[in-house]
Parts: sequence; C-alpha cells; structure tokens
Amino acid sequence: MQKALKRELLAPLLLTSLALTPGARALDVAGMDPSVHSGDDFFRYANGGWLKTTEIPPDRSTLGSFSMLEEKVSERTVALMREAAASGKSAPPEAGRVGAYYAAFMDENSIEEKGLAPLRAELDAIAAIGDKAALATVLGSELRADVDALNNTNFHTDRLFGLWAAPDFADPAHYVAYLLQGGLGMPDRDDYTNTDEKSVALQDKYKAHVVSVLRLAKVPDAEARGARIYDLERAIAEVHVSRTDSVDVNKANNPWPLAEFPKRAPGLDWARYFAAADLSEQPKIIVWHPTAVTGIAALVGEKPLNVWKDYLTFHAIDRASPLLPRAFAEERFQFYGTALVGARQQRDRWKRAVAATNAALGDAVGRMYVQRHLPPEAKAQAQEMVRNIVAAFRRRIDTLDWMSAATRAKAKAKVESLYVGIGYPERWRDYSGLTIERGDALGNQQRSELFDYRRSLARLGKGVDKSEWSMTPQTVNAVNLPLQNALNFPAAILNPPFFDPAADPAQNYGAIGSVIGHEISHSFDDQGSLFDADGRLANWWTPEDFAHFRAAADRLAAQYDAYEPLPGLHVNGKLTLSENIADVAGISAAYDGYRAASGDSRGAGAGGFTHDQLFFLGFGQVWRSQARPEALRSILMTNGHAPGEFRADTVRNVDAWYAAFDVGPGRRLYLAPEARIRVW
Ligand SMILES: [Zn+2]
Repeated sequence: MQKALKRELLAPLLLTSLALTPGARALDVAGMDPSVHSGDDFFRYANGGWLKTTEIPPDRSTLGSFSMLEEKVSERTVALMREAAASGKSAPPEAGRVGAYYAAFMDENSIEEKGLAPLRAELDAIAAIGDKAALATVLGSELRADVDALNNTNFHTDRLFGLWAAPDFADPAHYVAYLLQGGLGMPDRDDYTNTDEKSVALQDKYKAHVVSVLRLAKVPDAEARGARIYDLERAIAEVHVSRTDSVDVNKANNPWPLAEFPKRAPGLDWARYFAAADLSEQPKIIVWHPTAVTGIAALVGEKPLNVWKDYLTFHAIDRASPLLPRAFAEERFQFYGTALVGARQQRDRWKRAVAATNAALGDAVGRMYVQRHLPPEAKAQAQEMVRNIVAAFRRRIDTLDWMSAATRAKAKAKVESLYVGIGYPERWRDYSGLTIERGDALGNQQRSELFDYRRSLARLGKGVDKSEWSMTPQTVNAVNLPLQNALNFPAAILNPPFFDPAADPAQNYGAIGSVIGHEISHSFDDQGSLFDADGRLANWWTPEDFAHFRAAADRLAAQYDAYEPLPGLHVNGKLTLSENIADVAGISAAYDGYRAASGDSRGAGAGGFTHDQLFFLGFGQVWRSQARPEALRSILMTNGHAPGEFRADTVRNVDAWYAAFDVGPGRRLYLAPEARIRVW
C-alpha cells in the first residue's frame, strides 16, 4: 500500500518538475498551493497540493517526508539484502552474513519446523536454577548492551538491567559501563501503575498475553504462573524511575565502585551476577537509576525462586517470539502491535527482516548501501554545507548580545571541537567472529546480540573514538551525541526532499541545511549547556546566561502555545520548546551559511522562484506531514516535537522570509520585527 502510494504520487511529480524546471529538481511545485498566501499559511502554501491529493494509508496513522523517504530507503536496502542472499557462498564475508541473516529471517518454513527447539538450551538453563546464587548467574549471563541513554535514547529492556558502554561523564576520553533499570515487558512503569480505564484495560491484556505465551509453550498451570509473573513485574515497575527523571542527566551520574554493590543494593548476589556478565574486572559502573537498581536487587532477594524462574521462562519465549513459529509471532504482535500502539496489521515480513538485519549487521548493510546510493560528490557537497553552517553558527556566537564573555569563549571552544560525520563512519565495524547461518534465524539474533555485548565490554576503559557513529548510514534521521560532542548525518537522509546534489543549493540549505543547523544548536541549548567542549558533564553557563536564554525561550513557548490544531487542544510550547529553539536556530544558521556561500542570493533561481524563496520552500517541504486526529492528539500531548505544520511556520521568526515573500502587517503569520524570536 505504501509502496504504491509513493510510486504514484512522488515519482511523477519529480519528473514534472524535472522536465519544466531543471534547477528546481526535488522541489515539488505541484505539491504547493499557490492559492494560499505564503504569509497567511506558509505550511499550506508549500504543501497544500500534496495535502489535497494524498491520503494516509490504512496501515499508518501519520504520513510525511521522513516516513516516505524511509519507505524508499527500505526498498533500496531490501534489494541489496536479496542480492547478497542470492549470491550465496560466493559472496564476500560481510555480504555473506547480510544475505544469510536476511534469508534466515525470511525462511518461515524452517522456523515453523523447528518449533521451540532453538530456545531449548536457554529454557533448560532456567529450569536448572536450583538456588538464588544460580539465579544471579543466569540473570548476569542475560545482560546485553541493549539500551542507550543519550544518543538514540532507548531506556527499555525486558532483561533485568541494561548495559550502555559510553564515554564517562567525568572522563569522556574513556568508555565506561552504565547500568540502567530493566525487567518490564510493557514499555514504562506508568503502564503498570496508572489506574485510568485505558491503562487498566491494557494491564488486563498484558496479563492475558503472559498466560497465552505460557500456554503456547505448553507450560503447565499457565493461569496461576501468569498472575505471579505479572505481580512480580508490577513490583519491579513500582521501584522504577519515571521517564522524566530518566532523561535528567544530573540524576544519572552515580559511579558505584563494584565492591559496593552488595552494600548499596542487597538481595542480588552481585559477585555471581558480575562474573556471569563478565564485568568483575571493572573498577566501577555508573548506575543511571540507583533507586531502581536497589529496588530490583531487593526483589531478587525477596520473591520466591520459582516466580523468578517462571518470569525468566516467559521473557525468554516472548523476546524470541518474532523468530518462533507463527502462533508465537502472532500472539506477540496482538499485544505489542495492536493492543499497545493500535497497528491493525503486521508490517510485511520483508520489512521486519530489513529492520532485524539492520539491527544485527547495521554497518555491513550500511557499507553496501553507501557504495550504491551515496556518490562521493554528494558527500563532498554536504560536507561543504556543514562547514559553511558551522562557520555561520560561530559568527552568531560572536555577535550574541546576551552571552557573557566567559561563556562565549566556552561556546566557541565547543564549536571548534565539534565532530560532524556525514554519510557514514570513517571506520566500519568488523563482524569477523560472528557466525550467521541460513536456517537459524533465532540463533543468528542471539549470537549477534552477544557479539554486540562483547564488543561493548571490550572497549570499557579504552580510549573513546569521537568519530564513532551511533546511527547506521541507512537511517533516515540525524543525531547529536552529547558525550562525544559529535553529530551524525546518515547517508539515507541525504535524499530528496532533504538533499539533492542536482538541486538549487538554496533549496538544499533550506532543507538539509536547516536540519544540520538544528542538530548543531542542540550542542548549545539547555541540554547542550550541561556538556562541555570535551563532552564532560559540566555546566558551562552562568546563571545570568541561563536567565537570558530562558527569557527568549519563554516568548517562543508562548508563540507555540497559541497554535490550536484541534478544537480546544493547543500545541504545548513548553513540552516542544527545545526542539522549537533548535528549529529557529537551525534555519537561521542555515540561511547565513547559504548567504555566505552564494553571495547575492536575491536574484532569480530555478522554476521562477528567487533563491531566497527556494531556501524557504525547501524548508517548508521537509516538514510536509499529516496525521489522523487520534495520532495528532497523541503527538500534541506527548511528543517533544511540534507537528510539522508549525515547524514549517517558524519561518515567521526569520527576517529574510518577510522580504522573500513580501509579507507585511495584516498577514496571519506576520510578526513585528521585535516580536520575532532570536535565541542565537
Ligand atoms: Zn532536535
């Protein structure tokens, strides 16, 4: 469905604009609505044609530039994986692993035939647990590097705890182990503790899911065991730290000497746990969630051994279900797909296979991807843009009136040491030693998780590579890595509508350039102010700087609070503030960078637009998106980003936009010069 939608709507439009206006390539002229004045509703001026002719596919709740490009990248990626799978034994080792991983995931017959056999060893080890000491050993052997507190922000693991190997808060030149809370099947503690009707219904569905999984695995007495497993998880949830506290890095810097764990968190046999997790040699571990680690360790001591064994059995099966026979995979989707997030049907198996192969062998796939889909000239062009935008940001810091001289010096040091990765990492991850076999889908996943864990262990205490990436090249996204003072812009986002080497540069600066500026500015906002030029956790702002920043920020929050996308439901200016600041800063720095690079930009550009108009239209079309009312409601209530419409409309804070489209007083988006927000 999505495939057809893309082909029908996007490709022909691209051809139309190519034929008519060679230099305006990637700007979707037909997707605009010239009957709307840009000064009244910039989002609809840039995207109204697309909004009128495009419907959200039935299996989606939102549709926009990011998801449409993701779809295209998935199609490219699966083609590479299928080629690798077809070349069989003749393929080079990395491609061989990719092909075998993909093929094994797709081989449903083999998965069906094997039943639970691939899980037998793990289930037997759990069944053999005879006392709490042996329990600690099994729990430790299950620890994996499956969380990420700051880069890709993933706080959830259904294993008892999660490990993150990252630069040390106090010594960012070296890697250290961070230990995060875990142990829940549902995503968050609130899912267990909320008492509203919807949450209670979800809790009942989860309880039923636990029982169904045990029944499918022919575990006797499933009903009673399921109830006890749920009670244990509920107790774990009660000692968990909330999401709001989890993202507060000032609460996370708790280095515990290894020897002190038994005293600070009694109940779990830590010596055995760390021995099984291969962590005994570490002098310290940073405990991200100290109260949760203490609470969970106490539960290991208090709750009966048999309940823990049932709990481990359930999670071993539940976690493996996507790669177990269809009945298990379907049961898992019914809960995690339908009950939890409202999806009506499973994604096509090939899409799940692409995601799984990317998760296991991301760099091997990424290497194939960039060879085929990222021409060196495109990378060079994007790098040139980054240089110009970073330089523009540096000039903005020079001329800021609210920043003290001492803080300004620190900000400039931070710009100087910023590492920006474009397209793909300078060094690829080496997968030699990882065995991937056709016909062993679950084994492949388990071996790659263990391989990844050992790779994390191997770097503890070693020097940090600032140029290391935390996203694969085939990800449509961009990321700021605060502990490395680094940015990653993967190859996959260097595509229309974000970037096109053949497009007018003004348009590229407005589109990907503003995304680049957005990510740079995160290094210098309220979050960025907590990490210094080396990535050390050390606030480099004075209270006065913070007060000035806050004053501008409050006015921007008020601007967003005024938007009312659904009757009675406004954008939450506070919730979305950091991202809105980054948008204003990003488009401003991108505009400066483009002006510096191209000299006089007021002349005629491609397709009858001026260069400045192309810049802002490039920006406006990046935020092309629509959402069903239910989804819009949920975005407005919980998402840290404002809906795309209002991100596009932030052009009203930029002086050059008024001149570019001749927007004067009286237009709906008009702001008097003193009402326009300039944070940077
Ligand atoms: Zn952001």
